[in-house]
Amino acid sequence: MSRKQFCRLRVVLSAAKVRLSFYKSSLLFASAQGKEKTMKIRVYRKDEPDFQFGADYDEYFDGIDWRQAQMIYDGMLEADKLRKFEFFDRDVEPLKTYAYWVSSDEGDEPVGPAAVRIRSPEIWWPYSKICARIKALAEDNPALVRIAKVGATARGNDLEAIYAGNSKKMVALIGSVHPGESGPEIIIPALERMIKERKDLLTYIGIAALPSVGADEREKLVQGYPCYLRLNANGVDIDRNFDSDWEEMNDDLGYGLRSTDPESATYRGGAPASEPETRAIVNFIRDIPELSAVFSYHALASICGGAFLSAQRSAGDDDYSVRCRQLADWYVAGMYPAEEGGVALPGFSQGAWLGAHADCTSGSLPDWVYATRQAPAFDVEWDGYAPTKPCMQDLTTPKLMREHQTRHYNGLVNVIAHSR
Ligand SMILES: [Zn+2]
Repeated sequence: MSRKQFCRLRVVLSAAKVRLSFYKSSLLFASAQGKEKTMKIRVYRKDEPDFQFGADYDEYFDGIDWRQAQMIYDGMLEADKLRKFEFFDRDVEPLKTYAYWVSSDEGDEPVGPAAVRIRSPEIWWPYSKICARIKALAEDNPALVRIAKVGATARGNDLEAIYAGNSKKMVALIGSVHPGESGPEIIIPALERMIKERKDLLTYIGIAALPSVGADEREKLVQGYPCYLRLNANGVDIDRNFDSDWEEMNDDLGYGLRSTDPESATYRGGAPASEPETRAIVNFIRDIPELSAVFSYHALASICGGAFLSAQRSAGDDDYSVRCRQLADWYVAGMYPAEEGGVALPGFSQGAWLGAHADCTSGSLPDWVYATRQAPAFDVEWDGYAPTKPCMQDLTTPKLMREHQTRHYNGLVNVIAHSR
């Protein structure tokens, strides 16, 4: 095999185009040819229609043969500081996954593949957009809305909470505890619309929101990293990192994983609340005087259903279960109104309340809220509603996203209207 001429091939999605960057290898850079400003470069691309978000991981791309790819560029490129090349591919289609390689025209083995998935910024909001929308809400509604930093992510991004309405009694909304899952695209539009159309409700019960806890790793998905991501930048599952019987945690969810295993996708971390994201949530919840409920959004590709999971250990607590069921029922009645058949909608297989049989283990957010505040707290998941099933494979369309934002808005309006 001939030596590869390039290294550090990166492929990212940026404003609806794919940006490739790569460097001359150190041997090439040190050679006479390496001193040339321009060089003949070939770029190869292969469409990967079989790639499945949520099922396939990095290994999917191992060993894909560049010979089956299409050469999409064969021409001169100019190197920055004689070493770094950039190439833009603008001819890409939404929801496709592509693998790329680069080589010179001298018979060297192409470098790659590096893969990218073409995602819509309407479905996966960049961190900058989340911050801008939160800021605008506060600036446009100074009498009703305030924002406060409650912590930071492992990579040092600020985690800002937004508070609207009654600051004494609040419903808390938490997004993207798992980076590849829903949150900001549901929470922020619901809050914006509530402030615009139902300010009256917020005077009874306010909303406190922490829309994108998984901001660090979520940004990788925004930039086209193809595979589902669950852990924070330190490799910890935030929904196993809370200080509630953390030592006794023993995953038994049928995942085949141990949360004590640092290599597992449910790793609980080195100590309770070891992660800055966990501590941010703790600060956020602790500072709410009267906590009516906590909804933490999960499911995939920015869509979340109406399946409400609470702490396993609350199973014997009848009073708590009644309160949880009531809230879940109100939420679902708003999401799926009667004129559409309510929960009897075709494809709606699971119903609203999965209750304490379901899987919020010790160390999870709902378990910690139950243990410390006794407020109804839920991991909210996909509910089996067939029209939103495309989210499970990251095939959510902007139209589906908008319909779904309305459902969650209506669900929350119903919860607050009945809770006051
Ligand atoms: Zn999750």
